[in-house]
Amino acid sequence: MITSMTRTLAKDTINKIGEEITLQGWINGRRDHGKIMFLDLRDRTGLVQVVSTKELGDPRPEYCVEIVGLVKKRPDAMVNPKIATGIVEVEAKKITIISTSAELPFPIDSDGYDINEEIRSKYRYLDLRRPRLNRNLKLRSQMTTFIRNYLTNLDFVEVETPILTKTTPEGARDFLVPSRLQKGKFYALPQSPQQYKQLLMVAGLERYFQFPRCFRDEDPRRDRAYGEFTQLDLEMSFVTQDDILKLTEEMFTNLVKEVFPQKRITQTPWPRIPHKQAKSKYGSDKPDLRKNKNDKDELAFAWIIDFPLFTEQSEEDFYHGSGNAKFAPSHHMFTAPHLDDIPLLDSDPMKVRGLQHDLVLNGFEVGGGSIRIHQKDVQEKVFDLIGFSKKQKKQFEHMLTAFTYGVPPHGGIAPGLDRLLMAILGEPSVREVMAYPTSASGQTSVMDAPSEASEEQLKELGIAVAVQNKNKTGSIYDAIIEELKKQGIEFKNYEHKAVYTSQEAASVRNTDIHAGAKALVMYKDEAPVILVLPADMKVDTHTFKKIYKSRNLRMATKEEVEKITSVSIGAVPPFGHIFYIPIYMEKSLRDNERIVFNAGMHTRSIEMKESDYEKIAKPIVGEFALKA
Ligand code: ASP
Repeated sequence: MITSMTRTLAKDTINKIGEEITLQGWINGRRDHGKIMFLDLRDRTGLVQVVSTKELGDPRPEYCVEIVGLVKKRPDAMVNPKIATGIVEVEAKKITIISTSAELPFPIDSDGYDINEEIRSKYRYLDLRRPRLNRNLKLRSQMTTFIRNYLTNLDFVEVETPILTKTTPEGARDFLVPSRLQKGKFYALPQSPQQYKQLLMVAGLERYFQFPRCFRDEDPRRDRAYGEFTQLDLEMSFVTQDDILKLTEEMFTNLVKEVFPQKRITQTPWPRIPHKQAKSKYGSDKPDLRKNKNDKDELAFAWIIDFPLFTEQSEEDFYHGSGNAKFAPSHHMFTAPHLDDIPLLDSDPMKVRGLQHDLVLNGFEVGGGSIRIHQKDVQEKVFDLIGFSKKQKKQFEHMLTAFTYGVPPHGGIAPGLDRLLMAILGEPSVREVMAYPTSASGQTSVMDAPSEASEEQLKELGIAVAVQNKNKTGSIYDAIIEELKKQGIEFKNYEHKAVYTSQEAASVRNTDIHAGAKALVMYKDEAPVILVLPADMKVDTHTFKKIYKSRNLRMATKEEVEKITSVSIGAVPPFGHIFYIPIYMEKSLRDNERIVFNAGMHTRSIEMKESDYEKIAKPIVGEFALKA
C-alpha cells in the first residue's frame, strides 16, 4: 500500500534536512554492510542515498519502492560529490515494495553501446532507464520545446498534415496502406509534408512549421533509421534563400546556447560553400569542418549551396520519374531553378543551378531545403525533364491547379531532428536519440512488427498475399549481390552443387582452402556475433576471450543460427552487418588477395577481393585463430 500523497523528489532532499519525507522510485543500487544497508533510490530527478536495515525490508535493484525516512546531513567526510544530493542521506523508517523486478537482461548502468542491439530493442523500456538514453530523450524534448517557442514567437503557425495521403516523393520508396472502403486502392505515407506545406503557402499562412513524422522505405544506415524519422519542417512566403539560411542559423545558434551550453560552434557565420567547391576542395558535399575531430563538444555547421538542379538519372532515381529520362532532381522536383538559369532549362538542363540549400554538421547532412517553383509552366517543364509520364503528372495535378490561384514565392527547409541531435551529441547512430527506433532489419522496438495479417483482415481489404516469404535464404544471397553492385565492387558468383564442408566447397570452386572465408555464428557473452576465418583455421577461444574481454564464447546451435540469420548452418555469409551483428575477422584472411564464401545457400558462392570485403563488412580484425 502506498501511504503518502506528498512525495519528495530525490533532488529536493537537500532542502529538507531534519524533515521526514516520502520518496518513490526505483532501487538503483544496493550495498549490503551486514547490519546496515545502503540503497540508492532513483527517480526522474536523480539519485539519493538511503540508509536502512534488513528489518525494514530488503528491496533489490530495480524494485519499485516507496520509502519514508528522515533526511540527515552527512558528516563532511561522508559527502559524495558525485551525486547532486551527496550532502544528505535518508534514514529509512518504512519501506514499501510497490513492485518487484526480475533480474534485468542486461546492465543499465553502462553506456550500453556494446550490448547487442536486438536485445536492447526488445527490452527498450529497460534500455531507456540507462542514464544516457534517458538524458537523450529529455534533451530531445527540450530541443523541440525551444524550437516551438522560438518559431511561434516569430509568427510561425504549427500545422499538422495528413499521414494517410498520396505519394509525396523525396526520392525514396513509398509505404503503402490499403484502403478498406475503396478496395484495391492505397494511401501512401508521406515521405515529407512537402506538398502540403507548399499548399499552406497558397493558403496564405506565410509562416508554417511542424515536427512531422516522415516515412521512407529505404535501407537503414547509421544516420538514417529504417522507416520513419522526424523533421523540423518549415516553410515561408515572400523570402529569399538568404532569409531561410539566416533564420535557421540564428535559431540553431540560440538552441545550442540554451540547450547544449557545453558545445561550441567552430565558425560563425556558418560558411556557405558552393556545391562544386565542396566537391573539389573536400571531396564531399557534406564535409566535416571541425578543427579537432576528437573534440566531442565542437560543432562545425556549414551550408552547401548552388547545387545543380538535376543530376543524372540512375536506377536508384526510379522513384522520381519513369526511369527513362536523363535527369533526376538533385533535391526534389519542387525546387526552383536559379532565376538566371531558367533559359538553360531548354538548352542545357544539366547546367541549371537549383536554389537548394543543405545544412551540414560535423560531416552529416542534417537538413535540406530550397526556394520552390511557384510558376505552373516551370513546374510542368521540370516534370517533363525528369521524365514524368502522363499518369505520373496526373498525380501532381493538384499542385498545378493550386498554382493557378495566386501563389506567393516561397521556400523552406527541413532539418532532420534525429540526425541533428545525433550529430550534436556525437552519438554513433540515430537510434540512440529515438525512443523506439526500428532496428536495422526493419523490426520495431518491443513489439514485433512487421507481422502477418489475419485472413479476415486481408479479406476485408480485398488483398491476397501472393508471396509467402519462405525463401528467405535466397533473399540473403540477393541482398549481398545487390549491395556489392550498389557499392560498385567487383565480384564473381558461382552456382555449384550443394556443399557442406570447407573441403567440398574449395574443390567444387577450385579455390585454395585458406581463401575460403568461413563464417561462424557464436555467442559472445550471450550476444550473437559472427567470427570469420580462413577455412583451414579454427577459433582459439582462449585468445579470443582475452583480446575481446569476454567471459564466455560458445558456438550457436543449428536452431540459433537459423533464427538469427534465417540461413542454414554452413551457408552463413561473412556479412554479419546484414543480420546486424558484429563481425570479428581473423587477420590471416588478409594473406589472400581474393576470398570466397558460401552466400546464404549451399549452392552459391561469391568471390571478391579481401580488401573490398573489409570495406563493406567492416569487421573487427584480430588474431584469434589457429591452424586446424
Ligand atoms: N521536403 C524536403 C525534405 O524532406 C525538405 C524541404 O525541401 O523543405 O528533404
